[in-house]
Amino acid sequence: MIDFNIPPFVGTELNYIEQAIRNGKICGDGEFTKRCSNWFTQQFSVNHALLTTSCTHALEMAALLSDIKSGDEVILPSYTFVSTADAFVQRGASLVFVDIRPDTMNIDETLIEDAITSRTKAIVPVHYAGVACEMDTIMEIASRHHLKVTEDAAQGFSSRYKGKFLGTIGDFGCLSFHETKNLSMGEGGALFFQEENYLEKAEILREKGTNRSKFFRGQVDKYTWQDYGSSYLPSDMNAAYLWAQLEQADTIQKDRMDTYQFYDERLRPLAQKGYLEQPFVPEYCEHNAHMYYIKLPDLQSRTDFIAYMKEHGIMSVFHYIPLHTSPAGQKYGRFSGEDRYTTKESERLVRLPLYYGLSMEEKEYIVKTIFDYFS
Ligand SMILES: *Cc1c(COP(=O)(O)O)cnc(C)c1O
Repeated sequence: MIDFNIPPFVGTELNYIEQAIRNGKICGDGEFTKRCSNWFTQQFSVNHALLTTSCTHALEMAALLSDIKSGDEVILPSYTFVSTADAFVQRGASLVFVDIRPDTMNIDETLIEDAITSRTKAIVPVHYAGVACEMDTIMEIASRHHLKVTEDAAQGFSSRYKGKFLGTIGDFGCLSFHETKNLSMGEGGALFFQEENYLEKAEILREKGTNRSKFFRGQVDKYTWQDYGSSYLPSDMNAAYLWAQLEQADTIQKDRMDTYQFYDERLRPLAQKGYLEQPFVPEYCEHNAHMYYIKLPDLQSRTDFIAYMKEHGIMSVFHYIPLHTSPAGQKYGRFSGEDRYTTKESERLVRLPLYYGLSMEEKEYIVKTIFDYFS
């Protein structure tokens, strides 16, 4: 059986986890957490990078730092993971779903302005498959209407939009290091932001509402309860796992890119014959090979395809059920305008196995099985 995903493992993780334990400080903000944060600020040109327990939690922090309150409206795509919505619903916001572009599966930037009301407070673009949303347009709309932008860059590690790393463009950027993402720490994520203004509040939020971060830096001699907070900092053992992967990020990314390109080249004849559609990457974007999906004509053909692949030992999987069609989506949100593409395109999309270490033999077999299916 060829799995859809195997969590990335480069080999040095165990050694670093052992070091974290031997350091005698396995709680948050230890040596490995610092190494990871510094790596992000240096490599991605972002002023502040806080490691979090998940991308979901980074999104919660972004919602809190954006001061989202009951009755506020937040604009997001319906074609996304539940966490994008949950973080804002938790603050009492109502969700306004905007249709996606069929080419990238990202929020259609040309429809955002129609969804804005006097209650709108934020836009949350999701960079699906690590392919960037049209950020210049989104940032321009946000600035004209005084809205905060939180990028859900859960899938966007090391992807770029016009040279800028995803997660560093909006007011806030949220990354994920869940085991299904390009780089992992089991469960974990990061919150990025450029503005110095947010730093103190973000640190307090992340440390149960205390100024413990300042205390650790020796800036205050005891720490006290300052404001509302939670516990959003991961154990240094998890950070040690991530550090091993950051050190070998290039190797992981190259391996994934090879697989992506292999699929893309080998499946092209089937796309040319009109049997399937391949992913589209706009020229303003350098993607990270987070995902390789194909689109089949409709839901029925996708169901048949997935079943055929499974019979032949290959796990291929569909993705999000649009949030506006789910019970919670109906309770907490509304769809702005017409659902022209969200449902239709989500029903046709299927993801092929793509993970660090997928062998050439396996890739050949997957492509051969797809050709057999269509013959
Ligand atoms: C994975 C993912 C998340 C959640 O990440 P966690 O680290 O598991 O909380 C949020 N949004 C998107 C688009 C994702 O793909």
